[in-house]
Amino acid sequence: GGQNLRKEHLYKVLVIGDLGVGKTSIIRRYVHQTFSSNYRATIGVDFALKVLNWDSETVRLQLWDIAGQERFGNMTRVYYREAMGAFIVFDVTRPTTFEAVIKWKEDLDSKVMLANGQRIATVLLANKCDQGRELSNNGIKMDQFCKDHGFVGWFETSAKDNLNISDAANFLVKHIMATE
Ligand code: GDP
Ligand code: MG
Repeated sequence: GGQNLRKEHLYKVLVIGDLGVGKTSIIRRYVHQTFSSNYRATIGVDFALKVLNWDSETVRLQLWDIAGQERFGNMTRVYYREAMGAFIVFDVTRPTTFEAVIKWKEDLDSKVMLANGQRIATVLLANKCDQGRELSNNGIKMDQFCKDHGFVGWFETSAKDNLNISDAANFLVKHIMATE
């Protein structure tokens, strides 16, 4: 027996960033293939599970959404505990949400790390790119920003148009598996 056993990975992945940047929309698009222009934010923590067939292995991504606590600009250590990766999201139409990215990254790095002391893999998402693609021209700046602030990479995403979300998730999973 045993020939049907697939190796399984369970990864806790945090989705953080300012209120209204599209965290919940990105998760719903990725996990449920839906988009709505009005979600009611409920206070608390929400989970969604995405199962990926990764070569001969199974990856279960447990996506942790936050709702209502964003306005404090930080989360508790308990919330971050044992996370293996993170998306930090900003809204390309609202510069203040980009400024907040650094604060979210510092909060994350100060409260969670891998067993070996390394920072967890974090991908920056420039969401709502259906509203304007001006970032494309600034790709070099964004690459440098990622280097300076310890992001493994960045993607322009749209939860509305389903752009780049699964690519970004695959990219993050690749990095998590490399650091595991
Ligand atoms: P959260 O507070 O970060 O969870 O943000 P939500 O997912 O609730 O999204 C806030 C608002 O932005 C909602 O009205 C969404 O419909 C809208 N939104 C989210 N993602 C996109 C996107 O990619 N494009 C556009 N145009 N609107 C989006
Ligand atoms: Mg939300």
